[in-house]
Amino acid sequence: MLQIGAHVSISDGFDSAVSTEEELGGNVGQVFVGSPRGWKVKEITESDRTDFQSSLEEVQMGPWIVHGTYLINFATPKDDLAEKSIQAVQGELDACSTLGIPYYVFHPGSHTGAGEETGVENVAERLSELDIPNNTMLLLENTAGKGTTVGKTFEQLDQMVELSTYTYDEVGICLDTCHLFSAGYDFRTEDDMDQLVSEATEVIGIENIQYLHLNDSKHPLGSEKDEHEHIGEGEIGEQGFRNFINHSGFRELPMVLETPEDSKGYAWNIKKVRSLYE
Ligand SMILES: [Zn+2]
Ligand SMILES: [Zn+2]
Repeated sequence: MLQIGAHVSISDGFDSAVSTEEELGGNVGQVFVGSPRGWKVKEITESDRTDFQSSLEEVQMGPWIVHGTYLINFATPKDDLAEKSIQAVQGELDACSTLGIPYYVFHPGSHTGAGEETGVENVAERLSELDIPNNTMLLLENTAGKGTTVGKTFEQLDQMVELSTYTYDEVGICLDTCHLFSAGYDFRTEDDMDQLVSEATEVIGIENIQYLHLNDSKHPLGSEKDEHEHIGEGEIGEQGFRNFINHSGFRELPMVLETPEDSKGYAWNIKKVRSLYE
């Protein structure tokens, strides 16, 4: 069954996030547990958990995912920023665990001049300092490669896990289609799609990809720009998404949208994805 949903807000509570998702036509969802551009993690209470879990049970949804704040930078050469980032990720992971949300995803960060190799090593080192809860899996999101961000290639993502004290049992990968495309991975033809999956299989292991972000791209292949577009209306186009969401390696994975919140909105995009799923 297609598991598709959108990023929704928790500002009116976790039960309202679930009903918003339902109204949009989704059966999975993504939330922040704090301000996406701040360090503060929302304090999660036992009643947040029961509200959330009982709303989920009613509508038979899941698995949900929490997206980390954008300030996190595990690749940084600066110790103070690294320390703040570790605290933030730990707080958000603990919030996930309390809520009973099985996945947490964040962007690895930027090396800001220290070099890609050092950046990747830094990410691994900081991952190793976390105490990942048993009921939540930490996912690294692939990036578009803008500026000095690391994590644009399968090799870099794999190194971050391999060089850490964790394994793919605790840390997985979340692939964002806009970021993949901007980083130079094409999947607009079936041959390109097969190539992408065989690279992912060889380098990461396809079973270690746990979640998908579906976004079209405003910019061309390899542009390294991260600007999301409505599904089918950007440079990736409908056929690219048909190839991606129907591929045997990905079709069973949960998928969330982070498309622009303009007049079209998420409901339109969820419908579009459903129409492309075979
Ligand atoms: Zn993201
Ligand atoms: Zn994303």
